[in-house]
Amino acid sequence: MKKNLIDRSGGVCELCGATENLDVFGVEPSNGKDSQSILICTTCKGQIEGEVALDANHWRCLNDSMWSVVPAVQVMAYRMLKKIDNQDLLGMMYLEPEVLEWANMVTEDETETTKPVKDSNGSTLEAGDSVTVIKDLEVKGAGFTAKRGTVVKNIGLNGIEGQIEGRVNGTRIVLLSKFLKKV
Ligand SMILES: [Zn+2]
Repeated sequence: MKKNLIDRSGGVCELCGATENLDVFGVEPSNGKDSQSILICTTCKGQIEGEVALDANHWRCLNDSMWSVVPAVQVMAYRMLKKIDNQDLLGMMYLEPEVLEWANMVTEDETETTKPVKDSNGSTLEAGDSVTVIKDLEVKGAGFTAKRGTVVKNIGLNGIEGQIEGRVNGTRIVLLSKFLKKV
């Protein structure tokens, strides 16, 4: 597969033209086929994957590569232009409708899917649920212990895996869901 891409690109990074450290990169959502992969260098890859800070100067290379006839390259160029917010070039770019659709499949800000909060039995807890505390929990900072058997009504989620918020002894506290049971 890499050989096919090297033949297609002429042995250079399909985004910036670099000739070294080239690797195959699947343009998401990729089916692993050549047509959905591009040959890129580690400099491009590092910035695409967010391991290295975006360097707008480096992406001047898109001036050229955005005109590639390879849809996968067009998609990546389009996404990177969006990331560096180069509206001028974006405005010049023309993508076939299905290529544009592909380009927009992955949004720039991949919203992290929050994992469900599970209680001690593995039941998913949601805001508004009631739970009981299954063991005495010392509430640090609040100076009391949430006793086993305490019912906490109308819990809230704070977006952190394994945690909920609820009112115990009149104080709103964070509780670990593994010590709770849905009622
Ligand atoms: Zn490159």
